[in-house]
Amino acid sequence: MAEPPALHPIATLYSAKAIAARVDALAAGIADRKLHAPLVVAVLKGSFIFVADLIRALHAHGLTPEIDFIFLASYGSDTEGGAVEILRDVESDIAGRDVMIVDDILDSGRTLLFAKERLRAKGARTVLSCVLLDKKARRTEMVTADFTGFECPDRFVVGYGMDLGNRYRELPFIGTIEPAG
Ligand code: 5GP
Ligand code: MG
Ligand code: MG
Repeated sequence: MAEPPALHPIATLYSAKAIAARVDALAAGIADRKLHAPLVVAVLKGSFIFVADLIRALHAHGLTPEIDFIFLASYGSDTEGGAVEILRDVESDIAGRDVMIVDDILDSGRTLLFAKERLRAKGARTVLSCVLLDKKARRTEMVTADFTGFECPDRFVVGYGMDLGNRYRELPFIGTIEPAG
């Protein structure tokens, strides 16, 4: 059996405690919007831990959201323009719903733009979005999130659901990882 690759050193950027405080504040802000029967649509895979904490924080703020998932993958580099593909679509009937898209990172903006357009095309009444991290410096699309956890430096981050080659998702904090070499 091959040995798993060595782990990278990771420097904490946002501690578990800082994330928990921010998630609670986001939930309070979302609760203030008085959405009607909100449907949370989490973008897989990176948002799975964030959305798990967020919906429990929403519960603590008196909301009873439904939850569904869309699995998106993006291909190509920023310079090539890139394309977003649906690996698994939402199951819910979106027509007339107040939808809250939840994603881990807003980077080029292609993923969020695609998700917003997809849910609008399915007839959502309202499409809002909530991202844990916003890397503003890397935006190529005209898209913003309605709720943002942290404005993030232009560094590759892992942990709290976010991966490098499907590793590090289990870390309870978010940290930066340096490219090898
Ligand atoms: P966008 O479509 O906005 O360019 O890319 C968004 C997606 O790219 C995020 O949802 C996330 O899955 C991935 N991504 C962007 N930056 C990072 C990063 O620093 N770390 C990790 N693990 N994923 C990232
Ligand atoms: Mg993602
Ligand atoms: Mg990834």
